[in-house]
Amino acid sequence: MDSKLVLEPPKVRWDLSALFSSIDDPKIEQTWQEATERAEAFAQTYRGKINCSDLTASTLASAISDIEALYNEVAKPLGYASLLFATDSADPKIGAFMQKQRERGTGLSVKTMFFELELQAASQEVIEGILSDSALSNYTHYIQATRMYSAHRLSEPEEIILEEMANTGSRAWVRLFEEVTTNQVFKLSKPGAEAPVDATQQEVLTLLRDPDRATRQAAADSLSAGLKELERVLVFNYNNLLQEQSVEDRLRKFEFPEQSRHLANELEKPTVDRVVSLCKQNYGLVKRFYDVKREILGLPELTHIDRYAPLFETEERVGWDEGKEIVLTAFGSFSETLEAKAREFFDKNWIDAEPRKGKQGGAFCSYNTPDTHPVVFQTYQNKMDDVMTLAHELGHGVHASLSRAQTYLNFHGTLPLAELASTFGEMLVFEKLVSNANLQDRLALYADKVEGIFATVFRQAAMFSFEQRCHLARRAQGELTPEQFGAMWQEEQQAMFGSSVTLGEQHSMWWTYIGHFIFAPFYVYAYSFGELLVLSLYQMAKAEGTSFGGKYIDLLTLGGSRTPHELMQTVGVDLDSEAFWLGGFAAMEKLVSDFEGLWAEYKAQLA
Ligand SMILES: [Zn+2]
Repeated sequence: MDSKLVLEPPKVRWDLSALFSSIDDPKIEQTWQEATERAEAFAQTYRGKINCSDLTASTLASAISDIEALYNEVAKPLGYASLLFATDSADPKIGAFMQKQRERGTGLSVKTMFFELELQAASQEVIEGILSDSALSNYTHYIQATRMYSAHRLSEPEEIILEEMANTGSRAWVRLFEEVTTNQVFKLSKPGAEAPVDATQQEVLTLLRDPDRATRQAAADSLSAGLKELERVLVFNYNNLLQEQSVEDRLRKFEFPEQSRHLANELEKPTVDRVVSLCKQNYGLVKRFYDVKREILGLPELTHIDRYAPLFETEERVGWDEGKEIVLTAFGSFSETLEAKAREFFDKNWIDAEPRKGKQGGAFCSYNTPDTHPVVFQTYQNKMDDVMTLAHELGHGVHASLSRAQTYLNFHGTLPLAELASTFGEMLVFEKLVSNANLQDRLALYADKVEGIFATVFRQAAMFSFEQRCHLARRAQGELTPEQFGAMWQEEQQAMFGSSVTLGEQHSMWWTYIGHFIFAPFYVYAYSFGELLVLSLYQMAKAEGTSFGGKYIDLLTLGGSRTPHELMQTVGVDLDSEAFWLGGFAAMEKLVSDFEGLWAEYKAQLA
């Protein structure tokens, strides 16, 4: 953490050669051709044989393993295209390449679509009769999860039309959103500068965390002005997506907007509603934190531009090598396996961390397939935040690596547990940093941690309520205006802060850049879930000591092979128990009161 050295950002790019060597790699064409032949053979063998009264366990098992192998291969060109697009979204050649892969993917899924439909239509009696057969033991969860959609599936020709139209419907709207927000040029007038400079959205968002208030205001103005230019497109886009989901929900007989997400998450409405309502009941914690923050910053009032302000001016920089060591040591202090699996990402170039033009904002871990390897994407700019992001994405990365023990259909974690390993990884790094820090740095680290947790737990719960209202309002009232969206956004976010932060008028447009509303409706509550889960689980881990490490690794290794409830049972957790969730809130309360205590101590030292 040396402030004197000028650190260059890392020149760390990922190696995707386990997938393909370039967009011209002949293996790509070969993959599609083989997949097409296999899909046709698959249809010839199994069409009419699945939804059939004499279906046997061995027929079903071999059908599933055939289709699984097919999915596994097709995931490679599709995944490869998305990864290239993430690092170079401005290159039309890559955009076209991605579109082509998607269209080919659709061509293929149309051929095999009958299979899921037959599996969903098969009689409960027949399925129950064969489900416990050992031939199907690897696929019990897949079969049950697939059949949960039974009541919501359409006929095969209808499903084919929806799938074919999606590339120019919802998927195209998502891509439009990504392209316009990533390539938008934001005009930034920094205080004292002669003329505005061009900035990306990511750069502007980073400046909202600047210690200088005038710089934060400039960033807020720039963000708002840039979003204002896109407003017509973004609002029209979102209105369309809301309506598209409304139509699809009606056709599929979903009763409320988030129902299909719950189904994908394998969660019941009461479980989700309980957690969201507990979040709202605990909004008081947010106010307690920001009241102290306002005192530390010495401001009469906090507004939307102060929310992420750092407590103290610091030029603290953490270079790539140091960031890497911090994360690996923290992981290693909990479990050797965790460290070894994370180290592999550095040793084998499975990370893209270099900042460069055309690269999308944000960070993610892409699982890819069990027979290739996961990769991590971020833009590392030598900030403390970047270390936490690295810890977060490597948490996902380790989860993905361990899940490679599973076959493709059991590989991806179920969504409510998707953020489990990432938040756990962040917690480990946080504790490591706190244990080595002086009082002022500890105060700053706590502020970052609490803010990060609140952004995950409470902000996402508030965003979930916003989304619910948007979907319901679009259904009841027709196309919505920017003012209507803005009013709902402000109400839901303001409720979370109470009187501790005043969200100004320009904040009312800041929902428009949030990608989750666009590409994964209602996904946001998975973040609240994941964080609360980990906070509660982390307390258990500390109470239990080293024996927990093994259980945790075993849990990650199970990937998505069971339901969230079953997975959590392996570490002794009941997701329907209110007491478990309250443990997460208690852990947050402890962090806030520790923070208040540190501030009192700091003030006493100054006096
Ligand atoms: Zn994540």
